[in-house]
Amino acid sequence: MESILVLTHADESGSALTKASLEAITAGLELAARLGAPLAIGIVAADATHLSNGLPSARLLAVSGEAFAEPRYATDAAACEALCRASAATIVLAPGSSRFARVAAGVAHRLSGMIDTHITSIGGTATIEATRWFYRQRVEAVLTRDARPWLLLLDSGTHAPFAGAPGTAAAEEIKVDLPAIRTTVTGIRAPKQDEQTIRPDAKMLFVTGAGWTKKQQDGQTHVSEAAELILGFLRQTGASLGSSKSLVDQGGEGNSVLPFLTHLNQVGQTGATPRHPKGLATCCHGEEPHVVGWRFIADRRAISLDPNCGWTRGKADVVYVADAFPVIAKVNELLAKGS
Ligand SMILES: Cc1cc2nc3c(=O)[nH]c(=O)nc-3n(C[C@H](O)[C@H](O)[C@H](O)COP(=O)(O)OP(=O)(O)OC[C@H]3O[C@@H](n4cnc5c(N)ncnc54)[C@H](O)[C@@H]3O)c2cc1C
Repeated sequence: MESILVLTHADESGSALTKASLEAITAGLELAARLGAPLAIGIVAADATHLSNGLPSARLLAVSGEAFAEPRYATDAAACEALCRASAATIVLAPGSSRFARVAAGVAHRLSGMIDTHITSIGGTATIEATRWFYRQRVEAVLTRDARPWLLLLDSGTHAPFAGAPGTAAAEEIKVDLPAIRTTVTGIRAPKQDEQTIRPDAKMLFVTGAGWTKKQQDGQTHVSEAAELILGFLRQTGASLGSSKSLVDQGGEGNSVLPFLTHLNQVGQTGATPRHPKGLATCCHGEEPHVVGWRFIADRRAISLDPNCGWTRGKADVVYVADAFPVIAKVNELLAKGS
């Protein structure tokens, strides 16, 4: 009989579990219900007292203390190992966050178990079938394993965050034997929120294509105006910024380019495959190597001057054949008015 552990951790504020952790809890509840297996939830945080409130009926285990306030390999690996051993789980689900992705393989090794990453769904009743994508999201594989414990790191956005009825169990505190700690976290250096344009939790993906930097109807390029329009839209909507390869490549060609775009923004066959409920492509032709990165975007729209662009040929739900400059300017104006 399987037993399931969901590993979770606090967000940067320390006062709540991350959204990806709550998604892993949903996956754990579904799997436990399907297998009729016991479920435990493990929490890693500086102070887990309030974090266990609102969690579903399950055995709750917590590793807490100042040493677990910040992500660090030695402490996080020791915490996850202690939670896995205390629960004696055969299946361990965890969010594929940078914090857990860093330690999960090491934890699996310490437990003589196995690990698979980028899991998008878990099915099966007699056996456990974990699904993930290969070859830039073109081939979907279903994995089964006999080895236990089996750790599965879940991709974010693949399950709804847990929001069900809370249970009443208090968390059991699990003691961790910490190794000598060589790494001291002195602070976090990160770009300001409005400089950080890749926002995996955003409701919308806003994609910019090379058209923003091309000569427009007046025979001139308008790159600084394009930058203002794009950043204005992002500021007001909180959308995540994606780009076609052609546009991000322009930086390397010494051409005039939008300075806030890097290859990390690139969506497509050789870029990212983000998950958002909605996507809006602007000044982008919608060629297949780009569009393949959109396979997990639910509602796709595009603004292009070209009525024969790839988006129009069945790839977008709605195509606005229009000049993106005045369209986005008008949208920004309406957003500023709050309408
Ligand atoms: C092996 C391989 C892998 C690749 N991987 C990727 C990938 O991962 N991601 C990716 O994006 N590409 C990838 N490509 C490149 C891809 O095939 C396309 O060349 C690229 O996506 C096209 O980018 P674009 O639409 O921005 O530019 P363009 O093809 O230049 O299109 C610009 C569009 O903007 C429109 N436009 C111009 N001005 C305006 C305006 N004012 N208003 C509205 N529309 C306007 C034009 O009508 C045109 O449709 C790959 C190619 C290969 C061969």
